[in-house]
Amino acid sequence: MTVRVAISACLLGAPVRYDGGSKPADEVRELARKVDVLRVCPETASGLPVPRPPAEQREGRVFLSDGRDVTGDFERGAQRCLEALRRSPVSLAVLKAKSPSCGVGLVYDGTYSGKLVPGDGVFAEKLEKEGVCVVTEDTVRACKPSVEHPVAIVLGSGLGHLGS
Ligand code: SF4
Repeated sequence: MTVRVAISACLLGAPVRYDGGSKPADEVRELARKVDVLRVCPETASGLPVPRPPAEQREGRVFLSDGRDVTGDFERGAQRCLEALRRSPVSLAVLKAKSPSCGVGLVYDGTYSGKLVPGDGVFAEKLEKEGVCVVTEDTVRACKPSVEHPVAIVLGSGLGHLGS
């Protein structure tokens, strides 16, 4: 059985972040070698350029650090990636923590001070509403040493060897 997993492109080393960099995570790359990957980046899918000013959520909207309201861009990019998932469904999504698009459970508070608040990124929220199990690279890292790999448990698909 081929397990298909959506993964934030920046975690796989793609230079798509606002600053033109990436955030490669070894454990996520290891996972990517063992599954069928759907690489996603909702912000570049929206048409926003690289590089671009950093963005944060505030009061239900998304703003660049220069004050531009990019809520519509973030919604459009997230929707495009969601449609890609619908065409080719995944068992799991591993998304970049804290991002205004991809963050799961915690995002920056909109003050550009590094403060985190409870919440999901725009894309992560859409996936959760769609019923997709969404985790971050932190989850994958945390389960690395375990034979009873939480990601495998989530998938329920016999991936217990991932953590060994
Ligand atoms: Fe990474 Fe997601 Fe931001 Fe794209 S939108 S750079 S995949 S965190």
